[in-house]
Amino acid sequence: MNRKVILGIGAHPDDLDFTAAGTIAKWVKEGATAYYIIATDGSRGSDDPKMTHDKLIKIREEEQKAAAGILGVSEVFFLSHADTQLVPDEKLKEQIVRYIRKLKPDIVITLSPDLFFKPSENYDGYVNHTDHRAIAVAVMDCVFPLARDRLTYLNHESEGLTPHKVKELLFMNLTDPEYIVDITDTFDKKLAALGAHKSQFKDLEALKKRQTARAERFGKERGYKYAENFTRIILP
Ligand SMILES: [Zn+2]
Repeated sequence: MNRKVILGIGAHPDDLDFTAAGTIAKWVKEGATAYYIIATDGSRGSDDPKMTHDKLIKIREEEQKAAAGILGVSEVFFLSHADTQLVPDEKLKEQIVRYIRKLKPDIVITLSPDLFFKPSENYDGYVNHTDHRAIAVAVMDCVFPLARDRLTYLNHESEGLTPHKVKELLFMNLTDPEYIVDITDTFDKKLAALGAHKSQFKDLEALKKRQTARAERFGKERGYKYAENFTRIILP
């Protein structure tokens, strides 16, 4: 599989670093060029009583840029939608399609469009964030069919942008092992990238412990020390 250009698209600063940082750093190491798009401004992700929206937006952008730098991501694009209010509407889709047509990624990585919640069984249960669902649905629609079809957002043509077929779509998958990527060599970069999101974690050691356990759990499936897991769709 050709991995020249990788585009990661997340809802908040830190989403991609949780789910795909080891894989992205690995593929960059192997010669790929990677980009991030962050759809929201992350302006509600703090319980600090002195925090303001504007202050937090700046902090989180800087944190995301620092994390991306650690992984070797070439550029981070911020779409600056309001945190917790993201909807997979035409405005968002047109923005994403424009980047897909501009950057021409071979692989697009995003969150999971079919994950609403996870009951507590062997692992921690959770409710998936509304922005996570929204971005995943929007990205899926943009990859297929919107970016592919010339007559969709025909205004892009006057900007010199041409339709683009993404070859491979990866959804984050934290539950059932499907497409396992060995990140043993880049797991330290993943932890360092997560550590860059200082405003988000009070207890970095506990976070590292959880991430290590998850990476080991997926690694065990294939005999790797550390791994990330995705749902993979190879597009025709
Ligand atoms: Zn998030």
